[in-house]
Amino acid sequence: MDKALAQKVIDRLSAAKSPALFTHLRPDGDAFGSLLGLAHALKDQGQNPTLHVEGGMIPMYQFLPGGDLVQNVTEHFPTKADAFVVLDTSTRERVGKKTVRWKQPVDVVIDHHVSNPGFGSINLIVPEIPATAGVLFRLFEIAGWKISPAAATCLYTGLSTDTGSFRYRGTDAQTLRIAADLVELGADPSEIAKHCYLSITPQRYQLKKLTIETLTLKDNKKSGFLTIFPDFYSKSGAKSEDTEGIIEEVTSIQGLEVASLFEFSPDGALRVSLRSKGKVDVNAIASSFGGGGHRAAAGIRFANDGEKNRDLVLSAISQAISALKD
Ligand code: 5GP
Ligand code: MN
Repeated sequence: MDKALAQKVIDRLSAAKSPALFTHLRPDGDAFGSLLGLAHALKDQGQNPTLHVEGGMIPMYQFLPGGDLVQNVTEHFPTKADAFVVLDTSTRERVGKKTVRWKQPVDVVIDHHVSNPGFGSINLIVPEIPATAGVLFRLFEIAGWKISPAAATCLYTGLSTDTGSFRYRGTDAQTLRIAADLVELGADPSEIAKHCYLSITPQRYQLKKLTIETLTLKDNKKSGFLTIFPDFYSKSGAKSEDTEGIIEEVTSIQGLEVASLFEFSPDGALRVSLRSKGKVDVNAIASSFGGGGHRAAAGIRFANDGEKNRDLVLSAISQAISALKD
């Protein structure tokens, strides 16, 4: 990590009495873990951060210490805030629909997405670390800030969920060292795993079941895609956040290189998730359609023409697979 850049972030964060912390829409474990991890560290410095997420906290991550500090994003940038900080968010638009028109410039971006253009005044983007929570851990080390058991729990959750429980490419010795340090600082791996991986609601399970039944294998079984139709939510009683993790079921198929998930909205919009086992760069595919993410996990949003756009993405995947050597 660039120490001079890290110091700029530390100075800017330290100068704020009431920094407003934001993360991305459809937040996941790294989004909440990073947001709350930074909040604990700043509070321990005597600061008064506020936490803002489009849609507010979701039940699955309510177990995180300080979970009740998370507020829904409001119409305007909070008037009392003296810094606009955005975590784990690859583009300005992903901070949330309501925030896009705000004139307030983003002061600090802390992220690990290789596709992040750097939309803040100071941008600490570290793609070598596979979770924003890990970037924050290194930042706190440089700052000499104390990491409480509460902060360690939040950061470990981000690191664990964004690496698929330390399975994905990008999990290296440094990742495991950070995880080990966080455990020494008070994170409990089995307790966190219980909440993140072993607490699926019956509704979420039902959504997963309906979605998995839509599996189509193609490209000589090197790719597979799932579809979520709008009525799956009424059929299962699940919520939009319950889609997290379903795509991994497809990625786990032997011989498969690329998995995709297409979620259709009633208004014709389409949300796409892409996963690669390593040979295909799905960030390149997503970026060619205006999306982004990482080499092995990326996403795209289309406002309309869902079916047409699904077909375009599927042919881009076929092309990428046919370009592979073997
Ligand atoms: P997921 O499939 O879990 O929603 O997202 C996988 C990765 O791709 C995440 O790192 C996420 O930030 C990124 N991503 C998902 N959707 C979009 C999108 O619409 N635009 C961009 N730039 N990145 C996305
Ligand atoms: Mn992340």
